[in-house]
Amino acid sequence: EGAIYGHLPQPCQVLVLLNPQSGSGQALHLFRTQVQPMLTEANIAFSMCITEKHNHAWELVREENLSRWDALVTMSGDGLLYEVINGLMERPDWETAIQKPLCILPAGSGNAIAASLNYYATKVCLLKEELLMSCTYFLCKGLHAPLDLVSLRTASGKRLFSFLSFSWGFVSDVDITSERYRKLGSARFTLGTLQHLTTLQVYKGHLSYLPVEAPNSISSQGEQSSLSAQRANPVSFCNGQSVSARPQQGSVLEDSLLVPFEQSVPKDWIAVPEEEFVSIVCIYQSHLGTDLILAPPAKLYDDAIHVFYLTAGVSRMAMIKFLMALEKGTHLTLNCPYLHYVPVKAFRIEPSMLKGHMTVDGEVLPCEPVQGQIHRRRCRIISG
Ligand code: ADP
Ligand code: MG
Repeated sequence: EGAIYGHLPQPCQVLVLLNPQSGSGQALHLFRTQVQPMLTEANIAFSMCITEKHNHAWELVREENLSRWDALVTMSGDGLLYEVINGLMERPDWETAIQKPLCILPAGSGNAIAASLNYYATKVCLLKEELLMSCTYFLCKGLHAPLDLVSLRTASGKRLFSFLSFSWGFVSDVDITSERYRKLGSARFTLGTLQHLTTLQVYKGHLSYLPVEAPNSISSQGEQSSLSAQRANPVSFCNGQSVSARPQQGSVLEDSLLVPFEQSVPKDWIAVPEEEFVSIVCIYQSHLGTDLILAPPAKLYDDAIHVFYLTAGVSRMAMIKFLMALEKGTHLTLNCPYLHYVPVKAFRIEPSMLKGHMTVDGEVLPCEPVQGQIHRRRCRIISG
């Protein structure tokens, strides 16, 4: 395999996509006063595109002449980077397009990827403008590293790419309903959490997964060989069982671990016995929010989806303890019997009732069956 880390050229030219509505609406002001002077000093020239509506960045990146830019920078929350990645993956030249270094300058109310990147680099938790300064400094240094992506498929036929998280139940509902408190910045999540705690809901469905550690050595070998086959030749690896993305394209990113929803999951998968959940969160980086360390062991490219689920019966008091422990990432040491954690390669969630919201990287999806698998080192991100 080639070099894992890379450097932006010097001087370099980047495209900045900025969402003026992100967070409490300060993104453009913060860019002018905090970011721009640092970029000038670091010899980074930029063109700015201010997004005008939802999915604007997605459409723009799908058509953009990428050879003009050394990196694509988003200044917003996690949602804008999600649009950029999905726009890149929809291009006919997706395989090279998705290798373009990406950078996030946090200005949103949900800045989980920025908080994760900062945590990996410094082990210190920073908030707001300090986090923005840290990420701007990463861009000035120009070091980029691989980042895993997760390919998600819904029963209605959507195919989406995610760099951060997929969730259902409590965590998604807080994310979505707290949108109306957007002016509060990240405090919106605290308020949303308190609201949802008073009416703790139960979500019924089936969760199954392919664990990172296969349960017996035979299936473990099988998994190993299929993964290395996939790595050696990602385009031609198609066993007829796996689901293909866009049949009209010459090349597609195969999901070799997934089978169609009509089929039950493969034999080496594990079905969770519980069928009533408070929340399911599949996360691939350490942070769920600016100061929520849900997956302390997660790394930029550890080839794993970290699945956390809370089963029904958990008390409000236990929930509050759990949510408070998230700030330090010590929730797993609480030994709460309702909290489960397993690192996986792939998962499937089949709701029995179409209740609540689902979220991908903080963006809302209607509730329906969803499955996904990890794709190791699929894109590149400016990191510390
Ligand atoms: P935040 O963390 O504040 O939610 P995000 O980056 O997640 O910030 O962006 C939130 C949403 O705003 C995304 O769905 C994005 O598509 C949308 N968006 C981008 N530009 C605009 C705009 N000019 N007006 C309204 N919404 C926008
Ligand atoms: Mg968001």
